[in-house]
Amino acid sequence: MTSDDTTPLESIRTRIAKAADIADRRVTDVTLIAVSKTHSADAIAPLLEQGQRVFGENRVQEAAEKWPALRAAYPDVELHLIGQLQSNKAAEAVALFDCIHAVDRPSLVEALGKAMAAGDRRPDCFLQVNIGDEPQKGGCAIAELPALLEKARAAGLPIAGLMCLPPADIEPAPYFALLAKLARDHGLTGLSMGMSDDFETAVTIGATHVRIGSALFGARGVAA
Ligand SMILES: *Cc1c(COP(=O)(O)O)cnc(C)c1O
Repeated sequence: MTSDDTTPLESIRTRIAKAADIADRRVTDVTLIAVSKTHSADAIAPLLEQGQRVFGENRVQEAAEKWPALRAAYPDVELHLIGQLQSNKAAEAVALFDCIHAVDRPSLVEALGKAMAAGDRRPDCFLQVNIGDEPQKGGCAIAELPALLEKARAAGLPIAGLMCLPPADIEPAPYFALLAKLARDHGLTGLSMGMSDDFETAVTIGATHVRIGSALFGARGVAA
């Protein structure tokens, strides 16, 4: 009985550190995004108390309801939008989030560019790539990435890197490696990849941002 009072957060941090070590990477180069979608402020509070400051949500509306009060108590929280974003919510997303991970089409690039030009907030953006070429998934096709990147740069979006969700139920490493190669080819350093089931693999392949929900909070009740 060694780890009875190890919290899920501590255990995830340890696992990230081990994976980084295996790949000879610095653990400080990996940001843990605690994905708090569907979870209440009461469930989030213990993580804040343990010092976690970077959180991910997948819906603008839900984040707008939950986070202003939490941020009043913890002003240094960094909020990431990891889910699909409708262009008509771009301005709201720019106002609320510090980083937007699922920029995947020209119309959204335009809407984000306008929202940023209109105010003083310029959240970092990840371009999402449909790395497994799956029809039901978001993300731009690999072949469309160069044009989307060019458009995003022209629109003045601060591009942090690339993001993906690899196909479910098969070995993710080749997809992570492909995303890493695409980022290198385009001179991008950020890699948002790796979730509860595969974050260690992602870290060994170069993830700079892992998005972890259920391993921190337990299973989500409803589909999210
Ligand atoms: C929900 C979600 C996650 C976290 O998934 P877990 O398997 O619960 O860790 C990561 N990325 C995105 C885009 C998500 O929607």
